[in-house]
Amino acid sequence: MLPTFEENAPDYLKIAEIVIEHDDWKQALDSVIAVVRSVFLFDNMALFLNEAASGGLTEVVYARAIGRGRSAEADGAWGAEVAAQVATQNHLMVKTPDSTTPRSERVLFPYYLGLPLRAPQGCIGALIFVRYGGPTYAQTQIQRAQYIATQFSSLFERKRLLELVARLKDAQHQVDLQETFIATISHELRTPLGFIKGYSTTLLRSDTKWDEPTRREFLTIIDEEADHLKELIENMLESARLQSNTLSMKFQAIRLDGLLRDVILRNQSRYKNLKVTLDAPVCPPILADGVRVTQVIENLISNAAKYAPDAPITIHLSETEGGQRILFSDQGPGIAPEHLAHIFDKFYRVPGQSGSGSGLGLYICQQIIRAHGGDLLARSSLGQGVTFIINLLTDPRNIVTGG
Ligand code: ADP
Repeated sequence: MLPTFEENAPDYLKIAEIVIEHDDWKQALDSVIAVVRSVFLFDNMALFLNEAASGGLTEVVYARAIGRGRSAEADGAWGAEVAAQVATQNHLMVKTPDSTTPRSERVLFPYYLGLPLRAPQGCIGALIFVRYGGPTYAQTQIQRAQYIATQFSSLFERKRLLELVARLKDAQHQVDLQETFIATISHELRTPLGFIKGYSTTLLRSDTKWDEPTRREFLTIIDEEADHLKELIENMLESARLQSNTLSMKFQAIRLDGLLRDVILRNQSRYKNLKVTLDAPVCPPILADGVRVTQVIENLISNAAKYAPDAPITIHLSETEGGQRILFSDQGPGIAPEHLAHIFDKFYRVPGQSGSGSGLGLYICQQIIRAHGGDLLARSSLGQGVTFIINLLTDPRNIVTGG
């Protein structure tokens, strides 16, 4: 005999509390099962949900076998067929075996009780109870089962709403990112454009004559700002390509020691004060995109020239297990820890930073190295310079996909 409704009142309350308090629906069901058993007797219990992904078919999402159910091997012990009917008809269903049950073979005679799980948008699935060899479901017991089904419906409705909130938050985050992107971009584009427009308008004024040094000075500013604009647009396109995964990598066998020597030589004519010490033993070739790796090293050199002018640079190449490592160090002002954590973020520039820049360079460099299956990291402390660590693989083909 089951206890009376009044005797069971604390259990009903407990079920409702568990459903409300748990964020994780599986944990909630695990906790609720023991309490359910004290208000309603069953051997097996299964929950089926209508899966939109599988064209509305009802699929089992949770099942528990207790007592006799544990050893049951009878076909359809979870009541998939009953569940499908309950869910399509949105109707309670009792299914009992055709013949009466010999006590010794109870497991072959499942008594099913199927209850629809209802939500505002309609029937979302079914709750199935199985009793092996009976007893049949009395009206008062069916009402208890209906109460449990109602609680499970709210549990799944809550789960659906929580998922919806998570999706909306994600969508909002994307919108925020886009808005920040547009705000930063418009600011970054407007600044050099403002200079170009201002100085060219000044030069074109018919009421003023400019002497040659002033004219040259204005033209130099226009020229530099046009370069800055060009670099900015190129970096933006590059980062857009990186984001849409359309930046292609052409892997070829390259020797990093040779590549580093060439890059340094080329940049020494560009930056007259560049002081670089290269420590690069002859290393075996690796598979990499030489143009992209060159782009990364050049970016680090141009940053060092901008942010650590006149400070000596050391580049060290060594072999690692499965690849090669480049350590790129300058002895400039360094970067404080709170900023170091962000320098690879898109558009991040250390506040108060002098010199032009978009904050995209290091982001692009890191993406390029990651597209090689490697990584780009930075170590620094204020006044101690910065060391960039580039880890590359000998053969990235097994790890890198696409591109
Ligand atoms: P950008 O140079 O266009 O501002 P980067 O992504 O290349 O953007 O660099 C991000 C920020 O990291 C820079 O704005 C600068 O504040 C800091 N930084 C980069 N390299 C160095 C360096 N060698 N020494 C000190 N600060 C650096």
